[in-house]
Amino acid sequence: MKKNYLFLPIVFLILIFACEKTANDCCLFSTISELDTSKVNRKVLVLGIDGIRSDAMMQNNAPFMFALSNDADVYFTDSHITESITYSGPNWSSILTGVHYNKHGVSDNGFDNPNFDTYPTFFDYIESVDSTINTASIVNWTPINTHILSSCTDFSPELPVQDIEVFEQVQDLLVNDAPFNADMVFVHFDELDAAGHAFGFSSDVPEYSATLNTIDSYVENIFNIINTKRINGEDWLVMIVSDHGGDGTGHGDAQNPYINQTILIAQHPNLIFKNQHTSNQCDLAPTILKFLGISNSNFDCQKDGISLFEE
Ligand SMILES: [Zn+2]
Repeated sequence: MKKNYLFLPIVFLILIFACEKTANDCCLFSTISELDTSKVNRKVLVLGIDGIRSDAMMQNNAPFMFALSNDADVYFTDSHITESITYSGPNWSSILTGVHYNKHGVSDNGFDNPNFDTYPTFFDYIESVDSTINTASIVNWTPINTHILSSCTDFSPELPVQDIEVFEQVQDLLVNDAPFNADMVFVHFDELDAAGHAFGFSSDVPEYSATLNTIDSYVENIFNIINTKRINGEDWLVMIVSDHGGDGTGHGDAQNPYINQTILIAQHPNLIFKNQHTSNQCDLAPTILKFLGISNSNFDCQKDGISLFEE
């Protein structure tokens, strides 16, 4: 018995130490997530399109997304706020973790010392609450999978592929359940950003417009698949997001509104989204976890974004 009494102060000291070590105001009192079992059949698709300059998304070069953005029931903004460092690495990291780059620690595309242990991705929270939830990430820009998602998803190929192959893999996943019936899917197309760097980020640039048009057709095809699944009883939330805009042939100037603002669309057949809120990259993770009915007091304390659903 006496041994146990001696042990107590040590446990207490370890808790204090763990609390200070997190380098923020949150204590890691709960790493246990809770799942609202009434929402277990919900599924999420995030379509990431690298380098969308907001004013380039127009009727003639992105007819599907343009029409979708004008749908009264969707959340849409063309002023979605990027991280204050407008590289891809920090922005995709914030989209996936729900915290700004000063916390997750990714300030460029090198991923040198990320803090993903302290600030896990929404995939980590999903897998930790129920590892039978099937999660997938299919990307053109492979650092997303190699540096952020490989350890916390069921399927996240790391071989470099073109956007057309990303589209075909997503189609295979959603239509043929290959390799499984997916519940949480993240997708990343990169060739719009490549066209911007090579020719210019502008709707006046034919190569940029044509690439956006091609990606728009992938998005439309994937949406049609989701709508068929909805008719068959599956309950999907779909989000379309970008990491940054662009101007000239770059996107490094974080003061430039053509660069530090991009688009966000969130769509669900009957849930209501906020309409007086300008979103930022950190809003995706809280929106997705809320939709899936997953809560974690550690995430709630640390997150920098809010759910886009009307309460
Ligand atoms: Zn990018």
